[in-house]
Amino acid sequence: MQNNLTELDSHKIISGMLATNKLGTFFGVSQEVMTKVWGALTAPAGDSTTYISMEIGAENDVYNPIKEKLKQLNIFAHKDTRIRRFSDKILNGPAKIPNYSGGLGVLAGDTLKSYADCHIPAIAISLLYRKGYFSQLVDSRAGQIAHNTEWSPERTPYLYLLKNPENPAEPLQIEVPFYERSAKMTSAHANLWLKMEVSADLDFFVPEILLDYSIPASPEWVRRSAEHLYESRSERAKIVQRRLLGAGVIPVMDALGITSNTIHLNEQHGVTVILHLIARRLKEKLGDDYPMISTDRQIQDAARYAAKRVVYTIHTPVIAGHDRFSKDLFADIGHPFCQRMLNILAEDETAPSLFNFTALAMRVNRSANGVSRIHRQVTQKQFPQYAKKIQAVTNGVHHLTWISPAKAELYDSFPELQDWRARPGLLANAEKLFKNAKFRTYLKQAWLTDTRILIDYINKMLVAHRNQMLTTWIDPPNFLSHLDERGHKLDPEVFTIGFARRFSTYKRANLIFADINRLTKIVVENHWPVNFIFAGKAHPADEPGKHIIKQLISTQRELYEKSDGLIKLVFIPGYDMAIAKMMVAGVHAWLNSPKRPLEASGTSGMKAAMNAVPNISTMDGWWVEGYHDGRTGWKFGAETKVSSACLNEEVSTLLYKEDSTSFYKLFPEILRAYYDETNRSELIDKCIMNIALNGPIFNSHRLAAEYAKIYAMNLPEDVENNLRELRKLYASNKETKNGK
Ligand SMILES: *Cc1c(COP(=O)(O)O)cnc(C)c1O
Repeated sequence: MQNNLTELDSHKIISGMLATNKLGTFFGVSQEVMTKVWGALTAPAGDSTTYISMEIGAENDVYNPIKEKLKQLNIFAHKDTRIRRFSDKILNGPAKIPNYSGGLGVLAGDTLKSYADCHIPAIAISLLYRKGYFSQLVDSRAGQIAHNTEWSPERTPYLYLLKNPENPAEPLQIEVPFYERSAKMTSAHANLWLKMEVSADLDFFVPEILLDYSIPASPEWVRRSAEHLYESRSERAKIVQRRLLGAGVIPVMDALGITSNTIHLNEQHGVTVILHLIARRLKEKLGDDYPMISTDRQIQDAARYAAKRVVYTIHTPVIAGHDRFSKDLFADIGHPFCQRMLNILAEDETAPSLFNFTALAMRVNRSANGVSRIHRQVTQKQFPQYAKKIQAVTNGVHHLTWISPAKAELYDSFPELQDWRARPGLLANAEKLFKNAKFRTYLKQAWLTDTRILIDYINKMLVAHRNQMLTTWIDPPNFLSHLDERGHKLDPEVFTIGFARRFSTYKRANLIFADINRLTKIVVENHWPVNFIFAGKAHPADEPGKHIIKQLISTQRELYEKSDGLIKLVFIPGYDMAIAKMMVAGVHAWLNSPKRPLEASGTSGMKAAMNAVPNISTMDGWWVEGYHDGRTGWKFGAETKVSSACLNEEVSTLLYKEDSTSFYKLFPEILRAYYDETNRSELIDKCIMNIALNGPIFNSHRLAAEYAKIYAMNLPEDVENNLRELRKLYASNKETKNGK
């Protein structure tokens, strides 16, 4: 790499990475790329997609092509102040944008990154949360403690406040009216922030528009409803937040001139956009008086028309994930005509006093899909009247984000895999390396590197927590922090199982600790030590979820003592994408124990698989497709036939006894695979088959290609050819036997 750039070089860099348009100046892509992307998003043909998501998880400290480029160019110390200003900010500025709570948001981020890599014209709209989701502290007695996330969009180098083209001294603002019963009450206003998901080669990007309603022009109650992702202080705050997203969509598109034919709802949170599409159609047909003169029939016709623009992805069968709000509450905030539309299109079959927003999204779309094959089945059971149109698009993860540096280096070192970044399908070639001794050795080394990184992090954390005890009132979340140095240290050679995700009850984080005596007996009899590494947040209003965190922490000591120190259960507070990346690559197996069939997909296991880490999972979500008859990992638990009855989420129906027993039967085999030298090579077989069988399927480039087909856009030939190749890797929708 060049160390001393000439003046000329630096100018090239600036002109190569700076782009200006009437909305502002942006760093990371060239003017040419800006013009191309913005051109596609605003072209009259409308061959683009507007992607609506309550959350978008794309942490810049985990994946960051712009920063990588800067590092490569080695321009940190350059004397040109313009370069320095940008590069300093990007290299040293805060990276976190607390805009996600879990899988849904990370999926959105991964999808958008793949859209950028595959040159699929798309723009995302989400909200900006001034206080984030929440930051998690964990105290061994109190359990999870939530506090506001401290951050500032103004100081975050990846966020740009869009300028008003008519008056560049002012920010561009949109207005969303709120109504009380009949009278127009007030307006919410939002500033628009732009973040770019840039492609790996910086030759394309997907803009995300984050609506910031926490500005003085908005009333206090709106600001308060917009502060936290999944605000839950009241039903009203919740519904206001949903409406801030849905009602913001058309104003944003209008303000920016976005022409997308397709509006993709990533979950139904922003579904009220549909009401605006319908109203717009009625206005075109009937004029300004449409609220007074529309008939029910005309509303239904307009809904059918609006449906042609809507693609809907449903992400969960869990009832808490389906928004239902009281009609009365909605009357407090929406125009009376919205009430009428909702009365026609969003009735809840079981509760006449509620509007059902999932039902609305399910009804008004041109394409609806679940996020795995089993989830398609479940969704068809939940919405039998739409069963025919419900498809499957199995989730995927952005391989460029989630494959660890050590594994990336491994894949780079073998010509069979080398171009895996642009063509994740090449990971299938790992099968050709199955018997390659060098590959197997390098794989083991890379794995150990990743394990060491994780275990080092944990050991440092345990010490830090111990020291904190002296200076704060927090009682560390890990029993090990109370032991002396020797007792608490984790060893990277010890078999390490990871589990991290949101703490929802159906995910059963504590399942394998249902019978501690039985678990410790397996470990003690064979003298096989085990590390269990857990992380995850429970929504602050989810008392049962928080209780599971507390319960996990309270079993640490018992596990340790009953196993003579062979079992170490560690909880890492503050789960985020950076911790996720370290965990999925560093553990020896990834545990997933939801009650089938409540986990629609799950994506953390896919991240592990791409890092060659086997999963141990119930047959739910993506694992039904990723298990490959045991060649990639292990299964346990009841394989109940999918029916409406098995969707019950009550604790008593969560099959703790059956499924934990099944786990204990399996567990010795798993430990033997690691500890018994004669079985160790079978474990490496499983690792390689994860790369070969699951890598090509569960990446978000393939996902992007499947969605691009649903979007039905006219794209340049080279783009379309690449998407066609990606679609050959897997067809989520293909019918399979026995729902597998
Ligand atoms: C991948 C990821 C998730 C989703 O994990 P699931 O297995 O789908 O529950 C949640 N949170 C973070 C930070 C992640 O990286």
